[in-house]
Amino acid sequence: MEIGFIGLGKMGFPMARRLIEAKHQLTVFDTRKEAVDKLVALGAQAASSPKDIADRCETVLASLPSLQASLEVATGTGGVSDGKRVKRFIDLSTVGSHMATKIHGLLAKKNIVQLDSPVSGGVGGAEKGTLAVMVSGPRADFEIAKPALDVIGKVFFIGEKPGSAQTMKLANNFLSATAMVATSEAVVMGVKSGLDPAVMIDVINSGSGLNTASRDKFPRAVLPRTFDFGFATGLMVKDVRLALEEMKSLGLSMEVAEAVGRLWEVVIRDQGADSDFTEAIKPIEKAAGVIVGGSKGPHAAK
Ligand code: NAD
Repeated sequence: MEIGFIGLGKMGFPMARRLIEAKHQLTVFDTRKEAVDKLVALGAQAASSPKDIADRCETVLASLPSLQASLEVATGTGGVSDGKRVKRFIDLSTVGSHMATKIHGLLAKKNIVQLDSPVSGGVGGAEKGTLAVMVSGPRADFEIAKPALDVIGKVFFIGEKPGSAQTMKLANNFLSATAMVATSEAVVMGVKSGLDPAVMIDVINSGSGLNTASRDKFPRAVLPRTFDFGFATGLMVKDVRLALEEMKSLGLSMEVAEAVGRLWEVVIRDQGADSDFTEAIKPIEKAAGVIVGGSKGPHAAK
């Protein structure tokens, strides 16, 4: 397929690279020229704007860092909606169902179909093509786009209602955000009373406390204190806020989500939006007066 790809960041770059490797013809744009140049070296064509891409491709994918960026790229001046050839805009970003529905409506006025397609599985999943890809929008356009989406992960059709894949993604990321801070609190409690955090993580991962933070984030980025998992705190907080808004707009008040939301507001205030989201443990450590880190030897009792 001829595919346009806008936003070549931590997630967009490896997804675009996989599409090139799968022999799709890619035309790419990012406000960072160095990201475009790297993909051109791998076989992509460079475009000068979202409109330029939409003049050249029927299917345009985007992976962008904020709701405003998705709105501007899709519908702003020089955006996708000004393009002559584009038929469908597939947003891989997490923007929440309200923004997705707004973009859907604005694009529909120009006869452009919008498919929501938020993804989960992190930078590692984007590199390996193992993301969970959640799609909502018109089924016929989904079928046309599916061969491209298959390259980036396991594809789930959530429904035709605009924004429904975003609701699915927010439910997922609320759980991921909860796992990160809840595991941090559990491990900090253990360290405060003298337990070895590496032993704790091994036990949790062999027991019923297992979750994506204990399985992936602690061994890779927290215990070695590299804090380089590849998902910015600002993006995690965006998703937590969106999940809370989504719950409120449905008339729901959810106690765990409220508490998790408050904790992530402390994290972004203390660590900054550009920190890695695994640094969520730092304010919890600070309040407890401990640092989590540990040996890497074999821990299971023989
Ligand atoms: P990122 O900040 O690394 O990448 C965003 C890219 O978009 C950057 O290259 C930036 O230069 C580019 N960009 C910004 N504004 C632009 C514009 N107006 N026109 C063209 N390019 C523009 O972000 P990311 O981590 O790759 O996340 C992208 C999306 O994927 C977000 O919605 C995020 O919530 C979601 N997501 C991220 C992860 C992760 O682990 N990083 C996982 C799942 C979903």
